[in-house]
Amino acid sequence: MGNKSANLAIISNNTFEATKAINLDNYDISSALQTTLEFNELIAIFSSKIANKIPHSAYVYINPEFDLEIKSGVFTRHSCNYALKVEQQQLGELKLMSNHRFSDTDLQVLETMLCCLIYPLKNATLFHQALKMAYTDPLTQTHNRASFNDSISREMSLAVRNAKNLSVIFFDIDHFKTINDTYGHDCGDTTLALSAKWIKESLRDSDIVFRYGGEEFVILLSDTDAHGAELLAERIRASIEHHTIAYGMEAVKITASLGVSTLRENDTIESFIKRADDAMYTAKKRGRNQVVSSK
Ligand code: GH3
Ligand code: MG
Ligand code: MG
Repeated sequence: MGNKSANLAIISNNTFEATKAINLDNYDISSALQTTLEFNELIAIFSSKIANKIPHSAYVYINPEFDLEIKSGVFTRHSCNYALKVEQQQLGELKLMSNHRFSDTDLQVLETMLCCLIYPLKNATLFHQALKMAYTDPLTQTHNRASFNDSISREMSLAVRNAKNLSVIFFDIDHFKTINDTYGHDCGDTTLALSAKWIKESLRDSDIVFRYGGEEFVILLSDTDAHGAELLAERIRASIEHHTIAYGMEAVKITASLGVSTLRENDTIESFIKRADDAMYTAKKRGRNQVVSSK
């Protein structure tokens, strides 16, 4: 009994704190694959750990669920391709390339090694699904307010560091309360989901749409100056005006008011956003269904 407590005391005095596994050479493949939940890192670790046994010149990993296409190396003539799946969970597709045809033995070894990759990939998938859910508005499938708070500070830092433009658009549906009051809340919800879809259709891949409040959306435009942002806001306004919502036997038309601001030197998050919000309210005051740029 006395010995046991002495052992415990010694163990509790020893703390092993690993801040980052810098050199994974000493790790076996399974341990190395446990060091991350990021898909790109998992695939890179897997590729380097199998390189001795299955020489390859390049890899491509595709995962449509997360919009991923990760490539590295020199693309060559021969390839082998695996759709990865566990317990009904799709885990993407991995392709390896080589100058030489992969032999049956290569493929057997590879398949054994792939078993080590499957569960780390499943963990990464579960982690990223949870992240996605935490950051997505379920009704409109846009990013939510929590995601906006993270993104705006990241995008502002990037814009300042790289001396790039950054613009923001505030979008608010006009007289939305009337839609709810006239056609019901369900029609209001359909209107919100369709508005988000039409906004997204007007954007580039790098632009991000957030549901900022009830019937308010914010669009963050990286590398976009004031003129570009105003043109885009006008394109969104026109798209909303020209669409018709078919709700049961009803044809519902909506419009929106938009405010635009572009990042200035010495802006804080608050001042940057406030200019766009103020511009949007000016658009309301001037009669709605229009774009106003902050001066
Ligand atoms: P304005 O032109 O000045 O913007 O008028 P508005 O009616 O659009 O603005 P107001 O802020 O008065 O009303 C917004 C309405 O949006 C009130 C609220 O009930 C409704 N709303 C907020 N979130 C949702 C939602 O998720 N679904 C539905 N159907 N309605 C929502
Ligand atoms: Mg409104
Ligand atoms: Mg509003």
